[in-house]
Amino acid sequence: MHELTITLSIVNIAEEEVRKASAQKVEEIEMEIGQLSGVEVDSLEFLWEEAVRSSVLESAERKIYHIPGKARCMECDIEFEIEQIFDPCPKCQQYFNDIVAGKELRIKSLTVT
Ligand SMILES: [Zn+2]
Repeated sequence: MHELTITLSIVNIAEEEVRKASAQKVEEIEMEIGQLSGVEVDSLEFLWEEAVRSSVLESAERKIYHIPGKARCMECDIEFEIEQIFDPCPKCQQYFNDIVAGKELRIKSLTVT
């Protein structure tokens, strides 16, 4: 249950932030989840309600931004969208590319109140 661990760590971070700000709860949370992060957003959404119950996130509005995978070919220097880490360059077909986006898994912002 990879997603459960992630959700619980998000709850921990939120509890910490609320405490630091001497606030009561989180009003809104924005998260960025990359397509290549290995996180199933559907599972995370499914687990969310249960995981945040009685926490500072219980009534928080949740916004999830999906970051598409993007790579740069080291041979021809073009950027292209990828769905998996080892998708080849569409121009030269080589597999060793720099991942430039899509591995994100982070809290973009927390609004506490
Ligand atoms: Zn290429």
